[in-house]
Amino acid sequence: MTANLSNLAAIDAAHHMHPFNKMTELNEKGARLIARGEGVYIFDGAGKKYLDAFAGLWCVNVGYGRTEITEAVSRQMQELPYYNTFFGTTTESATLLAQKVTEHAGQNINRVFFTNSGSEATDTWFRLARVYWKAQGKAEKVQVIARRNGYHGSTVAGASLGGMKLMHEQGNLPIEGIHHIGQPYWFAEGGDLSPEEFGLKMARELEAKIDELGEDKVAAFVAEPVQGAGGVIVPPSTYWPEIARICKARNILLIVDEVICGFGRLGQWFGHQHFGVEPDMAPIAKGLSSGYLPIGGVLISDRVADVLAQEEIHHGYTYSGHPVAASAALANLAILENEGLVDRVRDDIGPYFAKAWKSLEDHEVVGEAQVVGLMGGLQLSPDKATRRRYAKPDDAGVLVRNHCLENGLVMRATSDRMLASPPLVISHAQVDEMIEKLRGGLDHLR
Ligand code: PLP
Repeated sequence: MTANLSNLAAIDAAHHMHPFNKMTELNEKGARLIARGEGVYIFDGAGKKYLDAFAGLWCVNVGYGRTEITEAVSRQMQELPYYNTFFGTTTESATLLAQKVTEHAGQNINRVFFTNSGSEATDTWFRLARVYWKAQGKAEKVQVIARRNGYHGSTVAGASLGGMKLMHEQGNLPIEGIHHIGQPYWFAEGGDLSPEEFGLKMARELEAKIDELGEDKVAAFVAEPVQGAGGVIVPPSTYWPEIARICKARNILLIVDEVICGFGRLGQWFGHQHFGVEPDMAPIAKGLSSGYLPIGGVLISDRVADVLAQEEIHHGYTYSGHPVAASAALANLAILENEGLVDRVRDDIGPYFAKAWKSLEDHEVVGEAQVVGLMGGLQLSPDKATRRRYAKPDDAGVLVRNHCLENGLVMRATSDRMLASPPLVISHAQVDEMIEKLRGGLDHLR
């Protein structure tokens, strides 16, 4: 570290515009400088240690400080720091990564289009879905259905497909041709229905929307396996099978957004495998490289790839399949494989985490603890019997989050839900540490 801390804070306040922040408010307290990471821990500029129960931003699946990745990156940097994949060229790492990623994606998915981020992946499938239908003489099939409170990125298409009101309000979104249906958020919106009944009801909103728009006008439906940024909302068991049935019966593409759930988070390589459905396309990012370098992509099923193969595709990014990012991703996937981390989530640390997470339901301010694999959503509620929400839900979440932070635990709060998504290498003892610190944070909400 070269600059001293107060210098850095002043420079940041003067020059750095942070995403998802109000700068006048941020500058009052100053951005927290994160200086280094090791395993599941990060350290701030003053040396304070935090357990990162959020893996950066749902990214760092293999944990911090993996020299296998930094060494692969250094080798690739020296050999070939950049080349494109546009004009009939490729690189070894991009090619091998395409093979490796699709190997884990199931037998009907054998192609991937590389991007730099999840948002670019969203823009990519959004265009490709329309190309797919047009190529088959169905140029009218352009409408896309997504969900309220879903998250698919910050580009114009991404923010439009996402169902976040605050994002729509900035930039006159959503753009034309995008429609939203409800979310399977039983605790807040399920009323008197059982979770299973509610899951079916929410899935059937898709059918109703297709009827309203006309089947011959709808290109695709997109959803995250488990809504992440929306609050780790785990759908009832009836939801996904019904969604898959409707997409098939009504001949619209099913797009499963794997940006968070991909690469082991739910105890399978991909979230759709956990829920037993097959996507036509699936955006990926984050865990693909564990965030060590930016890289994303879109998995493309044979059904779609075979049609697209007949078309000249006018779409791509300068850094699609960037060789250094691809080498980081390859080294990352090798760690996931060699250390059996995906199976570990399914068979060992996932069940351990689930039991610990569920144990929080005995706390008086916890309405419900939802968990799949290493992804947990904790609903705060002043009265769990009636599933009441806090009058100021955002304040409840922020209060718990800040007390956790004070106590050396990084959690995220989405309104009145606490979100956890730790690195897949977290140990049993570290799960215990997380739960104990979170419990301490919850005590402040009493
Ligand atoms: N899709 C999902 C489900 C996400 O959670 C995110 C980011 O959090 C994105 C897409 C966008 O990814 P990125 O921020 O890499 O553009």
